[in-house]
Amino acid sequence: MAPRMASPLDRLADFDLSEQQREVRRTVRAFAEREILPHVERFEREGRYPLELIAKLPELGLLGPMIPEEYGGSFSDYVTYGIICEEIARVDWVVASVISVSNSLCAGSITRFGTEAQKQRWLPGIAAGDVICSACLTEPGGGTDLGNMATTATKVDGGYTLQGSKVFISHAAYAGLFFVVASIDLEKKHKGVTAFLVDPKQTTGITIGDFPMRTLKRDNLAEVHFENAFVPDETVLGEPGGGFPVLGSALDTGRFSVASRQVGQAQRALDLALPYASERKAFGQAIGEFQLIQQKITDMTCRVQQARNAVYQLGRMKDAGIERCSMESSMAKLLASQAAVQNVLDSMQVFGGYSVTEEYEIGRLLLEAKAMEFGEGTSELHTKLIAETMLGLRKQ
Ligand SMILES: Cc1cc2nc3c(=O)[nH]c(=O)nc-3n(C[C@H](O)[C@H](O)[C@H](O)COP(=O)(O)OP(=O)(O)OC[C@H]3O[C@@H](n4cnc5c(N)ncnc54)[C@H](O)[C@@H]3O)c2cc1C
Repeated sequence: MAPRMASPLDRLADFDLSEQQREVRRTVRAFAEREILPHVERFEREGRYPLELIAKLPELGLLGPMIPEEYGGSFSDYVTYGIICEEIARVDWVVASVISVSNSLCAGSITRFGTEAQKQRWLPGIAAGDVICSACLTEPGGGTDLGNMATTATKVDGGYTLQGSKVFISHAAYAGLFFVVASIDLEKKHKGVTAFLVDPKQTTGITIGDFPMRTLKRDNLAEVHFENAFVPDETVLGEPGGGFPVLGSALDTGRFSVASRQVGQAQRALDLALPYASERKAFGQAIGEFQLIQQKITDMTCRVQQARNAVYQLGRMKDAGIERCSMESSMAKLLASQAAVQNVLDSMQVFGGYSVTEEYEIGRLLLEAKAMEFGEGTSELHTKLIAETMLGLRKQ
């Protein structure tokens, strides 16, 4: 049996992984702390998209963990993919977002629903880091109720014209592939939804506008406008009008990777609090010796582990071949959202006033953790989906 790792933190994250998965965790953690973490604050201050950091990912195969080897990827299993997302997000939400948008939403959908030509066209470039992906789903009228989208795809000779706007689109200005959902018939609601693989650089009628954010300025979130943008027939992913199952499957995997990233954030909040609680003194002793601070450490530890267990359990279900695990995806996303936000709040309390100074990282994590609670389904949506499934009002 492989030796257990020594520290309690390592044991929590590591208990029943295979030796290969442990090695991935060790390698990715060391890479993230060495190559990414020292630069994150600077990129955020400068509001600069971290292209240089993203460029370091392909060397370790980190841009293709959901892409089969035959298309240049490094796919091994879902749990390993979750570990990669967790460890990169533990140091940077945005770099991890590139991995998860590219793999869960885009490459995963192409692998499952794409034609051979679509796989050949996109997958090797994504894995190699030549193509950054954006998912164009959310609209100004609302992101939760995706079946009610207003962006249209009108059939014309040889393809479709896209008309409408998307907001909150991460990576948009740097993307070489847009995964777009639009309706070919608004009256049919979700049965009109169609998925497209759009090359924004080769398509006229697409404009990318600023979407000013109070946080995550380095994420390059943008508005994307389609004005009679012509896309050929071969850009349809799956069937015309068959985009809702494509989207559902993409979001299912997306929720797994976002939840993994939130576990990374929750872990980071705890990791930052531990040395501070041991070193900071009040009333002549380390604050970590006060029971009220110990309570926070215990709560943070239990929360992150509960979320991690839910996320790895979901990964194992996917590895066992259960492709759609919607309720478990919702549970993982909900628990991981709660763990990330509450752990950051508790960790900030440990830091006291210093949590909101530029000297410490923890304050930056607050809005980032909250922002992640909205992506890939809000907590309210997941609460609703879990209850509806349990009550038999919705199919798995
Ligand atoms: C940092 C960040 C990055 C993002 N990146 C992307 C991206 O790359 N691509 C993309 O397409 N989108 C992206 N999004 C958008 C995100 O997916 C949406 O914000 C999310 O889907 C919620 O949509 P909304 O903000 O329009 O809220 P709304 O849908 O307007 O919801 C507002 C509130 O009402 C609640 N609500 C809605 N319906 C119900 C209900 N039935 N019952 C109870 N409560 C309900 C919601 O939970 C929420 O609290 C990103 C968002 C953020 C913050």
